[in-house]
Amino acid sequence: MAAARRFHGPSDLHLHSVHSDGTESAATVMAAAHRRGLGTVALTDHDTTSGWAEAAEAAASLHVTLIPGMEMSAKHEWRSVHILAYLFDPDDAGLRAELDLIRGDRRGRAKRIVANIGRDYPLTWEDVVAQTGDDATIGRPHIADALIARGIVRDRAEAFEGILHPREGYYEGHYAPAVETAVPLIVAAGGVPIIAHPSTAGRARMMPVALLEHLIGVGLAGFEIDHRENTEAGKVILRRLAAEHDLIVTGSSDYHGLGKPNQPGENTTTDEMVARIIDRGTGSAPVYP
Ligand code: AMP
Ligand code: FE
Ligand code: FE
Ligand code: ZN
Repeated sequence: MAAARRFHGPSDLHLHSVHSDGTESAATVMAAAHRRGLGTVALTDHDTTSGWAEAAEAAASLHVTLIPGMEMSAKHEWRSVHILAYLFDPDDAGLRAELDLIRGDRRGRAKRIVANIGRDYPLTWEDVVAQTGDDATIGRPHIADALIARGIVRDRAEAFEGILHPREGYYEGHYAPAVETAVPLIVAAGGVPIIAHPSTAGRARMMPVALLEHLIGVGLAGFEIDHRENTEAGKVILRRLAAEHDLIVTGSSDYHGLGKPNQPGENTTTDEMVARIIDRGTGSAPVYP
């Protein structure tokens, strides 16, 4: 083992704030995690690091260790793939340029979706802006919140099952780099890339094992296995692959405040795996209390 461990568990390394599609401020997310008894957490907003400073301050005052993180948008063919990135340099030029592209296109894409919906429902771009934090990475959850505010749907789940579902015809995709590009970008920024919820059911079903093995070859560090959306069959394959390649495996909640039923600490990551992430990340440091 490297340095003595300065963090303590339980650890939940996947939580969202209003800097992307969570419903709570970064400080409130830290407080929610602390209330649930967590000792170490990562803030992983989509495609942004803008919540790090507020999270660090709040975590320190709660005696919680913060692992700076992000959930980066990527794609494989037409499928959306999410990559959790930990302890990377937030000022790395290559990564920043890519994140700017993603966030910029997410905005244009959200406008296109709203225009599509606006043909059939009373929904405007201003309604969505009103639901979105100033510097937030915008996503369909913000459109869902605008639909709720208009009384068109009851909650985010209903919006995703209906109007926001691709089959309804309003959906538009957004730019994201191929996974083969995103993983090395995170590594080059000193970060630790771990595929988020790799085996969800349906459209985003698992990437082929040969591709996962290619990604391991270019620096993929591991898989988020204990996540409520991973299928049991997928977990079996992922556990086998992780053992074979000595990968990091994590468990986490994917907390979004009131935006999803997921609660902080509903899945956790072992101390051994947290230590491996800390040892491997060189672009930024954990924030210890
Ligand atoms: P987008 O990246 O803009 O296409 O939106 C996907 C985001 O919506 C993901 O980050 C999820 O957190 C969120 N999401 C997906 N399905 C649901 C759901 N049924 N209820 C609430 N949030 C969801
Ligand atoms: Fe999300
Ligand atoms: Fe995700
Ligand atoms: Zn997430």
